[in-house]
Amino acid sequence: MSTPPSTWEQLQAGDAEHVWHPYASATDTPEVYPVASARGVRLTLADGRELIDGMASWWCAIHGYNHPALNRAVHTQLDNMSHVMFGGLTHEPAVKLASILTRITPPSLERVFFSDSGSVAVEVALKMAIQYWHAAGQPRKQKLVALRNGYHGDTFGAMSLCDPDTGMHHLFGDVLPKHFFAPAPDVPFNQSCDDQSMSAMEELLATHHQDLAAVIVEPVVQGAGGMRFYSPDYLVRLRALCDAFDVLLIFDEIATGFGRTGKLFALEHAGVEPDILCVGKALTGGYMTLAATLCNRRVSDGISNGEAGAFMHGPTFMGNPLACATAIASIELLLSQPWQRNVQRIQDALEQGLAPARELPNVVDVRTLGAIGVIELAQPVDMKEIQPMFVERGVWVRPFGRLVYCMPPFVTNNDDLATLTGAMVETVAAINK
Ligand SMILES: *Cc1c(COP(=O)(O)O)cnc(C)c1O
Repeated sequence: MSTPPSTWEQLQAGDAEHVWHPYASATDTPEVYPVASARGVRLTLADGRELIDGMASWWCAIHGYNHPALNRAVHTQLDNMSHVMFGGLTHEPAVKLASILTRITPPSLERVFFSDSGSVAVEVALKMAIQYWHAAGQPRKQKLVALRNGYHGDTFGAMSLCDPDTGMHHLFGDVLPKHFFAPAPDVPFNQSCDDQSMSAMEELLATHHQDLAAVIVEPVVQGAGGMRFYSPDYLVRLRALCDAFDVLLIFDEIATGFGRTGKLFALEHAGVEPDILCVGKALTGGYMTLAATLCNRRVSDGISNGEAGAFMHGPTFMGNPLACATAIASIELLLSQPWQRNVQRIQDALEQGLAPARELPNVVDVRTLGAIGVIELAQPVDMKEIQPMFVERGVWVRPFGRLVYCMPPFVTNNDDLATLTGAMVETVAAINK
């Protein structure tokens, strides 16, 4: 016996009663839109309306939804084995994915640690850096330097590296570890840095290097902490500073990885190799949760030769075969296409489509890089007002703060991009009235 499907109203009421949404109130519950299915770049709501997805489910769904190649990978793996523990066992999906990841990232990154989510991949990076210095006989080196406006995830270690103000660090008191923060890089993407642009970072490293395990940054694009783009030259100079002061360098490419900025990884804009690299989000094409932390031999050998003789981490669902098989299919699908030309096409369409927003009085900046388009406003938007305006225009765009932005699936065609950018410009113009 099957129960009839829930109605729109039932879903909304049940949601308001029991479900807690990301960064949301449980008393003043947000309006949420029930989704019945998703295919290509379209989300079908439970009442039959279709929305063009401008968010790729937070950077993830690069190939769109319900892609036959990814579906096939899941089905095939499911019929074989959905999960086995990773302690003492291994399997083809994990081995193959690790080999692909080390092939498509900088050559010095030779070892892959799988985990379940981006935040955990950042925790793993932190623990690697701290364990490395312990093993190297410098146990004092436990602090990190992160950037203002950065975002690295929501677990305690990751959260301690997010912007202290927007991350509301004061709410968590002494439970949250204290790290150092350098100003957000302010040199634009297409310019090179001078010594002045590195001076605050250099001073932090010069003053505190004896306590510093690593510097962590999102290369080139600061995502959820402000959607800011900055000069790749900053990374070249940062690498030199880290080497000079004997501090490890961690790149968090959880948002930028797998083509989003026009390079497979944003670090390629700079040609810089980090000691540790975090990937996640688009790793499985948005199908399921999987992340990975890669490191070089210096880090992996150092840790392994230390007191513990092992890296002290091991999630239950580590290397989940379903997720690994999907990730392999997603990466192979991406690399089998002229993806770079395609991302450039999207960048051109976003640039052209969002340009009229520059003329609007409440807009302070319009910027695009790869398949990312951002309208930055002077004032924060009212979500209750603006969210329905996008839905009425047939698009799914989810602003935050002063940012109305999109990072559509790479399969979005030019007509849909025009609808998407048109809706963004119209909506920003309408809330200004
Ligand atoms: C989303 C994100 C994370 C956290 O990933 P989750 O999967 O949400 O835990 C970390 N770093 C960056 C740069 C991200 O964009």
